[in-house]
Amino acid sequence: MGSMQQFDVIVIGGGQAALSAGYFLRRSGRSFVILDAEEGAGGAWRHTWRSLRLFSPATWSSLAGWPMPAGSDRYPTRDEVLDYLRRYEERYELPVRRPVTVQSVERTDSGWLVHADQGDWQAAALISATGNWRHPHVPDYKGIDGFRGAQIHSAQYLEPDAFADLRVLIVGGGNSGAQILAEVSQHAQTTWVTERPPVFLPDNVDGGVLFQRATERWRAQQAGRPVDDLPGGFGDIVMVASVVEARSRGVLSAREPFDCFTERGVRWRDGSESDFDAVIWCTGFRPALDHLRSLGLIDAQGKVAVNGTRSLLEPRLWLVGYGEWTGMASATLVGVMRSARSTVDEINAMLAGLSPQSG
Ligand code: FAD
Repeated sequence: MGSMQQFDVIVIGGGQAALSAGYFLRRSGRSFVILDAEEGAGGAWRHTWRSLRLFSPATWSSLAGWPMPAGSDRYPTRDEVLDYLRRYEERYELPVRRPVTVQSVERTDSGWLVHADQGDWQAAALISATGNWRHPHVPDYKGIDGFRGAQIHSAQYLEPDAFADLRVLIVGGGNSGAQILAEVSQHAQTTWVTERPPVFLPDNVDGGVLFQRATERWRAQQAGRPVDDLPGGFGDIVMVASVVEARSRGVLSAREPFDCFTERGVRWRDGSESDFDAVIWCTGFRPALDHLRSLGLIDAQGKVAVNGTRSLLEPRLWLVGYGEWTGMASATLVGVMRSARSTVDEINAMLAGLSPQSG
């Protein structure tokens, strides 16, 4: 590329968190660019399994400004989310460059120099919105290196065909584990292992309740009330149609964790053994922050210390969308709005020279 481009703000990542930030940046008239490693719109949703149903109903799955259109089912499909995000970018004319992978960032006197595979960019402020999908987490189990079967993470799971007639161990008790189990168990002999007994929402309670709880926690936090005794998190399993159907076949019961892997499967805590051909890890993700590694800000948990969304040690860096640690419900479509808005408010204040260090 030619001469280096200078912006007020660079957003790294191009999923829903980046688009949310883009919406508020656009409204405030800032110059900005969104650099995304994908080939097209949709962030991590581009890579999820084909039959995925959101756990959030359409009314709880919208970004700022424009509600997600309601589909035929209460719970949107993956394709409906992809379509929504693509149209959202177009609607607000968000300046997304693709595919651009940011490799590292460097502090300069006036802000940041961003190094990407397609060139370098400069900006006064940086929003990192790279999500968790590129950093799947697999827990450390004894004997795993000796296990001869296949292993994949839910991040790579697309459809059940590859598991036909196999003995499959599915590990993880969240919505991913339940939905993948529901599907794979139609083709394979499955065993489900969860760290704690899975928690199912009642059939007649939709996923919106998880967001109502998050809002209650946020309100309590704002009011200075304790939040620890309020229910929270997005781990409860929403009874989408496929999961209800799996329950009717009797496959939706979980076992407690095993002791270790063997060459052919696992050894349970009572000493008995089971053979498995494959393991599907539905055990979550960690923040994808490789591009920030050279800053020396990443802690042992793989996170960056923040006040709200702003880095404590780098006051020109904000992190949006990764999970509860960057804002309540920030790793959800509807929940990221709050963090994106406050982030852009803080950036505007900084750029206006009003409060250079405030958080
Ligand atoms: P991502 O979608 O991961 O976007 C990050 C973007 O950054 C990607 O495009 C990636 O390519 C890009 N990127 C990464 N590194 C770089 C780099 N170095 N340079 C340039 N670009 C980079 N939420 C809900 O609200 N409702 C649901 O029902 C729901 N269901 C979910 C089901 C599953 C199985 C999972 C895993 C999550 C679900 N979520 C749900 C949570 C959340 O909404 C999604 O994970 C969402 O994709 C998070 O958006 P994001 O923008 O933060 O990150």
